[in-house]
Amino acid sequence: MELRKDPITRSWVITGDDVPDSGPRAEAVCRFCADSPAAPQLVSSMAGGEGPWSARAVVHPTPLYRIEGEPSRRADGLYDRMRSVGAHEVLIENPRHDRNLWNASDGEIEQFLMLAAQRIQDLKRDARFKYVSIFKNHGSSAGQEFEHPTAQLTATTFVPRRVLYELRAGRDYFSQKERCVFCDILSQEVQQNQRILEARGDFIALCPYAPRVPYETWIISRLHEAAFERFALGRPGSIRDLAALLRRTLQRVRIITEEFHLVLHTSPNRLHRSESLGYWKTIDEDYHWHIEILPIIASKAKSYTFKEVYYSPVASETAVKRLREAQIDG
Ligand SMILES: [Zn+2]
Ligand SMILES: [Zn+2]
Ligand SMILES: [Zn+2]
Repeated sequence: MELRKDPITRSWVITGDDVPDSGPRAEAVCRFCADSPAAPQLVSSMAGGEGPWSARAVVHPTPLYRIEGEPSRRADGLYDRMRSVGAHEVLIENPRHDRNLWNASDGEIEQFLMLAAQRIQDLKRDARFKYVSIFKNHGSSAGQEFEHPTAQLTATTFVPRRVLYELRAGRDYFSQKERCVFCDILSQEVQQNQRILEARGDFIALCPYAPRVPYETWIISRLHEAAFERFALGRPGSIRDLAALLRRTLQRVRIITEEFHLVLHTSPNRLHRSESLGYWKTIDEDYHWHIEILPIIASKAKSYTFKEVYYSPVASETAVKRLREAQIDG
């Protein structure tokens, strides 16, 4: 697999010829359960809970990004390409197979959120990585990979497309108004009180004004902070409220549909601030971390795609060959 940049949208895609999927994995034993004999390589573990650990990060068994080496970004005529260097981890939300973010205790969900914050902070120390994404795909239409309650983490040498749009928009808004666009949205939503789902502690769940999918929901902090990990590690006590709001919001969403995408948006790696391009100079003031939940409604499932990074498991070189060889009439 390699990364290629679309010169028009300037977004990176991960592409190459993947090993064909042999169908849903039928695992005799779950490798993510607490007592699994086939546990993947451990990265980090949170203590507490009833067992020896409460949440843990492991290396993804079939990673899209690999940790070794340099990205070796290079030109290919007018195009840009680089190796798929990065980190790809599975965040095990709970040692128990049946405890999900909507039916676990607030304390357990809090431990998972603190693990996520610690992993982001840790990976941002690596100057190769520009961004750390945390996401959860639940349900077969969402691309769920494992039965066990898990989220995933990727650390990438580029900023994913959707986040890049938000960063640029936040920066532009700030340059005109000297205010954070997310704080402004939040204060208007609170004032209008038409799309607020629930408030809890420092956090608010709301349905955005211009949703991308039906029932799209955001969870956002009332307190301005660009980086989720700095927020969580700096105010650990308040994450219990976030855990409760996340649990309750997912319970609501699941009345509509069991399938959803969830993504955490935080600020990019500050080690990578490009002075020459003037990127992210005002990042601490113009960006504001949040969680997005994108439910999948069965009949609409194919009418949109949500991907932080487009993933194309057939290389264009292979695709063009197949298209040429295809038997067509006239
Ligand atoms: Zn399990
Ligand atoms: Zn803000
Ligand atoms: Zn976002």
